[in-house]
Amino acid sequence: MCGIVGYIGKRQVFPILIKGLKRLEYRGYDSAGVAMINDNGDLSVYKTKGKVADLERFCEDKDISGTVGIAHTRWATHGEPSSVNAHPHYSESKNIAIIHNGIIENYADLKKKLVADGVKFRSDTDTEVIVQLIEYIQTRKNVDLLTAVRFALTQLFGAYAIAVLDKRDKDQIIAARKQSPLVIGIGEDEFFLGSDATPIIEYTDKVVYLEDDNIAVIRRGEDLKVVNTLNDTLNPEVCTVD
Ligand code: GLU
Repeated sequence: MCGIVGYIGKRQVFPILIKGLKRLEYRGYDSAGVAMINDNGDLSVYKTKGKVADLERFCEDKDISGTVGIAHTRWATHGEPSSVNAHPHYSESKNIAIIHNGIIENYADLKKKLVADGVKFRSDTDTEVIVQLIEYIQTRKNVDLLTAVRFALTQLFGAYAIAVLDKRDKDQIIAARKQSPLVIGIGEDEFFLGSDATPIIEYTDKVVYLEDDNIAVIRRGEDLKVVNTLNDTLNPEVCTVD
């Protein structure tokens, strides 16, 4: 299983994401991508098959502005390695982007139902089902992103570490895990996200290791909030790493 990196704070996000992905390269991967909310309030999603250095080159002439973003290295399990199947994946409206490590075992059933209801998919991945389901719930039930994520997670079987960005809220990343590791670094007015602590430790030694079924609401300027799928607030242990 490959890599997840994320950041929200005051710094420019792109160099932090790229550096973090490079730190996770030891885990092996076939493609890489980033999603950032840029200075115009749009989602910039860039992804390529190949190495993180290829992604960096691909982004040379692109808008890489923004102070919130998520990034991913993929080891394909569903859908061939390609730029279309690389993460991040968009929801149909392109308002929401997701990255995911793991496998959604019941993705085919969920996809069938969503397609029957008119949702259009772009990739062959199991991952895209998660973001399409989140948007489907958000729009049909008219709920906020956290509620939509909570409801969506209760429908998934399998393993996941995910991070979700919604371009309508540049102050928030939502992250969650089940049987796939995810670590949050807590800095001064900034947060980091990683599959392990290696992309985080140069910025802060305060980390929270999310546990199964934990959902982290990471908001700019606020304390870290962690809830379960029932929306009970949890008190995660903040550890100090060497
Ligand atoms: N199952 C997902 C995919 O094939 C994620 C793989 C991973 O963990 O990188 O796209």
